[in-house]
Amino acid sequence: MQAEDTNRAPMNPERKFLGDRMLGTLTRYLRFLGYDCESADTLPSGNPGEDTMLLAWAEKEGRILLTRDRELAGRAREHGMYIREKDILDQVKMLREHGLIDLKVRLIRCSLCNTLLRGATDEEIRGTDYAPSVPGDFIYLWCPTCRRLYWNGTHSESIIRRIDDLSQRSENAP
Ligand SMILES: [Zn+2]
Repeated sequence: MQAEDTNRAPMNPERKFLGDRMLGTLTRYLRFLGYDCESADTLPSGNPGEDTMLLAWAEKEGRILLTRDRELAGRAREHGMYIREKDILDQVKMLREHGLIDLKVRLIRCSLCNTLLRGATDEEIRGTDYAPSVPGDFIYLWCPTCRRLYWNGTHSESIIRRIDDLSQRSENAP
């Protein structure tokens, strides 16, 4: 993990989240930023008691429940955060303004399943047909759960660029 900037208030990189079903994109963005963010999507759907399960999950694991449901956020009290914004970049910005996240991309976590990535073996890289065909100075990482290869400069690049833009804009803001 990279060192935190020293010119900012210290952030807790160990902060953990739980996203509701409406916040799948935000969940993926938080994982790109290195945050441990579980998703309500992993629960079986159609359970009328899901809200109560989410509250218990957040409390048990010390996660902040991110939800588009104002009433649910209220029930979660200090464990909850109501996300009013619809646009993904507004959502990210709002969490940043509340001091809950910083905007540093850390490629340490699988954006699809939240598992921590590890270094990929030569065999795993060779066995992946979407690995870059041009040789380069890539760092290859592997999700052992999805069996998916990541490298610096993947498809995630556009997300990283958007986060970087946002980061610069919020730093330049008065
Ligand atoms: Zn994965």
